[in-house]
Amino acid sequence: MARAGHSYSERPAVAKGATVLLDYASLAQRVERLAGGLVQRLGLDTGDRVALVMANCPEYLEVLYACWHAGLVVVPVNAKLHASEFSYILENAGVRLCFATADVADAVSSLPEPKRCVVVAQPDYEVLLTSEPLAIVHRGPQDTAWLFYTSGTTGRPKGATLTHRNLLAMCFCYFADVDPGAPWNAILHAAPMSHGSGLYSLAHVAQASCHILPESGGFDAAEIYAVLQDWQGVSMFVAPTMVKRLLDHSRDEDTANLKTLIYGGGPMYAEDCRTGLERFGPKLSQLYGQGESPMTITALNAALHAASDHPRWLERLASVGVPQSVVEVRVADKDDRPLLPGELGEILVRGDSVMSGYWGDREATAETLRDGWLHTGDLGVFDEDGFLTLKDRSKDVIISGGANIYPREVEEVLLRHPLVAEVSVIGRSDREWGEAVVAFVVPQAGRTVEPAELDEFCLQHLARFKRPRDYRVTDKIPKNNYGKALKTALRELDRASNRVADDANQGVGGSSSG
Ligand code: AMP
Repeated sequence: MARAGHSYSERPAVAKGATVLLDYASLAQRVERLAGGLVQRLGLDTGDRVALVMANCPEYLEVLYACWHAGLVVVPVNAKLHASEFSYILENAGVRLCFATADVADAVSSLPEPKRCVVVAQPDYEVLLTSEPLAIVHRGPQDTAWLFYTSGTTGRPKGATLTHRNLLAMCFCYFADVDPGAPWNAILHAAPMSHGSGLYSLAHVAQASCHILPESGGFDAAEIYAVLQDWQGVSMFVAPTMVKRLLDHSRDEDTANLKTLIYGGGPMYAEDCRTGLERFGPKLSQLYGQGESPMTITALNAALHAASDHPRWLERLASVGVPQSVVEVRVADKDDRPLLPGELGEILVRGDSVMSGYWGDREATAETLRDGWLHTGDLGVFDEDGFLTLKDRSKDVIISGGANIYPREVEEVLLRHPLVAEVSVIGRSDREWGEAVVAFVVPQAGRTVEPAELDEFCLQHLARFKRPRDYRVTDKIPKNNYGKALKTALRELDRASNRVADDANQGVGGSSSG
């Protein structure tokens, strides 16, 4: 940031829609002053944790960098969480100060800890910006930079402890593996900056490229297409569901200014990927990562997406690509022995992007980082050329009649049915089979779909034993804030409605026998 302010002083640094708010010289100055305020006025010490409970906003970047400038550790928290979730994270991280956006200020101020909360763009915040500029507080590569609380589709979130080295390694991989090739003119922050979009802002600060915030502060497909009319060479990181929303929105906006549409963080179905390539051209890039190795395990870059003349192109589109440059990735059996291509096992990762551990949780750290390898909990298989395909998380696998069924495979098939918009597949405990496959299906808008039709379709495209035993047509699939289907919630929903059905059956049986 200091270098960008010094050497690329006039370049646009922060914009809201089409309007440039700050150039790099001004942004770097605000960072130095805000850092001064944190130390001189608020008395924070090197290594103290500062939470950012903030929706995407123009101040996001200066708060992040001011904390690092002052030698502090940032704890970005998704602003859409529930107050009890904020509370848990802030306490777990031992946060001394919290920055909040106005939309969540009340929720955060009512929490017992931390005592101090500064609402960005309000008078208290502006006062901090009048402080004397601070000289950079030196931190080493091993020092903690970011506590990344995993989105946690189950259980309590854990804070992956990310060091400055981890973040630097992630940036190098961005240029080498994910978005290679200049220009890096601008990044559009359409996804939460507390996670992927914020992590990737670092690579764009390194290139002194502009950070564009959508006016609405959220994800709105129409607005994103509008921004693409105003800015050239735009990269953006989105969750797969957002790609789908962009695709569903319309077909005729000009997307010539889109440089790279980077997606990851959850499964993207091959069908959407092909539609995306048709719509946007060879601009799709995928990454596979997790909080514990942020954005950095494997990547399928735009050139690989576009290589449609390759004999295994379709398989590659359904994969998560090849290991990124700073990591070794292996697939191992339950005793951590490496497996051969074609064999399925847990994905292990080693390298400079891997976290140093979970904040304050030795037990979980020891369990996850064994023998120097990060145990991701994801199941996958390498092909002969080193392309990795994910097969769900271990806990999502359905074991039916002794056979392993990967929900993803069933979902891929059902999504090809023209009446199906969304699908999520889970296991239901079953006396006969151990578990039975159940598909939650959202039909295309304004349409209905009959289970018999879907069953027929599965029979044509899927092994018989993998077919869902039950279809539940619904208008919505519960998702977390990052658009990931909450399989645990679906399983609970399924259990609850089966209980209701059982009770009703028993009731009828009881009265007739009486
Ligand atoms: P989080 O730590 O919240 O970012 O979640 C990381 C998890 O999301 C990974 O362990 C994977 O299960 C899943 N994930 C991340 N990237 C991808 C991807 N490209 N395709 C499928 N699943 C992914």
